[in-house]
Amino acid sequence: MIREGDRVAVGVSGGKDSVTLLEALLALQRRAPIDFTVCAFTIEQGKFLASIQPYGEWLRQRGIEWHCFVDSPSLRLIDDQPDHGCDLCSRFRRRAVYEVCKGLGVNVIALGHTADDFCETLLRNAMFTGALSSLPPVTYSKSKDFRLIRPLVYVPETMTTAYAQGLGCPVIPCGCSQKTGTVRRSVRDFLGEMELDHPNLKDSLLSAMGNIKTQRLLDSRYLDPDEGDDQELVASVGPFPILTTI
Ligand code: SF4
Repeated sequence: MIREGDRVAVGVSGGKDSVTLLEALLALQRRAPIDFTVCAFTIEQGKFLASIQPYGEWLRQRGIEWHCFVDSPSLRLIDDQPDHGCDLCSRFRRRAVYEVCKGLGVNVIALGHTADDFCETLLRNAMFTGALSSLPPVTYSKSKDFRLIRPLVYVPETMTTAYAQGLGCPVIPCGCSQKTGTVRRSVRDFLGEMELDHPNLKDSLLSAMGNIKTQRLLDSRYLDPDEGDDQELVASVGPFPILTTI
């Protein structure tokens, strides 16, 4: 994900995930056999329930380069369309992030999506968009100006919560975290409920994302009847009974 000479910007939102990501990258920077730099930035879209400044000051006191940008188009969006959904909000954020990162001279943007986000997105996409896909762990922006990385892909939120608490950083709540009745929230609650009886559910979903059996799906681009796995089917059904005639 990270290469020699990279300038990595971490998008921090005052939450547990992004601060964990930032700390992890700073720890990696101290140990890695390659040189790269790390800075942090926040896009203020009018969703924070408290000022982000104490969080930023906390970062700066620890010697971390932090920049905060207020995105006026996002603030106008809240006034003009108070009920806008995540898609529109994310689109506004993406534009602002690219603008800001261009100004900061970075070539890599690190995003704080966790294992939970990957699992939830997989289910959401399968159930609501008709695609078997999740988030890309490493990709490029459309214009190829930035490499986008999600280093917390295997880190569950139970871990980021505990880590952020241990750090003692001020956590700034986002108004959206209290939203109910959304598809995101339903999928999250559904997984949470299932996990009560099946605690390794997310591990299994993560494994599934790296273990695709194309012959058992319906995408004709990857289906080759000559490469079928009938043997596996026979093995799973077991030996056929011997028929006798009377
Ligand atoms: S949860 Fe809130 S801040 Fe996040 S994308 Fe959705 S509307 Fe925007």
